[in-house]
Amino acid sequence: MANNITFTMIKPDAVKNNYIGGILAMINEAGFKIKAMKYTQLTKADAEGFYEVHKERPFFGELVNFMSSGPIVAAILEKDNAVADFRKLIGATNPAEAEEGTIRKKYATSLGENAVHGSDSDENAAIEANFHFAMTERF
Ligand code: ATP
Ligand code: MG
Repeated sequence: MANNITFTMIKPDAVKNNYIGGILAMINEAGFKIKAMKYTQLTKADAEGFYEVHKERPFFGELVNFMSSGPIVAAILEKDNAVADFRKLIGATNPAEAEEGTIRKKYATSLGENAVHGSDSDENAAIEANFHFAMTERF
């Protein structure tokens, strides 16, 4: 599919560590176009809704507290094969297992505080993009 989209968040750990610029540079260098972007903070309810698929997991409370603990950068990214290519660019969930050259290898702190989110399917990319952005905020 030509020019499809994925959704990303630069998570509170990476914002606190002043990695926004470095992460955006890697995103641009990898060929993603920024279609929408905002600097915002999730409420606890937002984070619970966003990560609802994980609500039975033992780390859910920690994940929700962390994701609502400070500002994030939310963005819609556009590129051919956006979802898969962005998952490749961010690297493994656990930064200890992330490959060289990935965002998480360079910028993540731990499994829980892993610098960035990337959608895991085209369907979820559309749901997540709609969660944060109106159509009039996309360019
Ligand atoms: P994300 O959805 O944030 O892009 P992911 O798709 O690589 O990450 P998921 O399996 O969807 O990973 O998990 C969502 C988030 O929950 C992870 O990014 C991580 O911060 C946290 N998480 C996942 N597994 C664990 C765990 N075992 N312990 C603590 N936190 C975890
Ligand atoms: Mg995920």
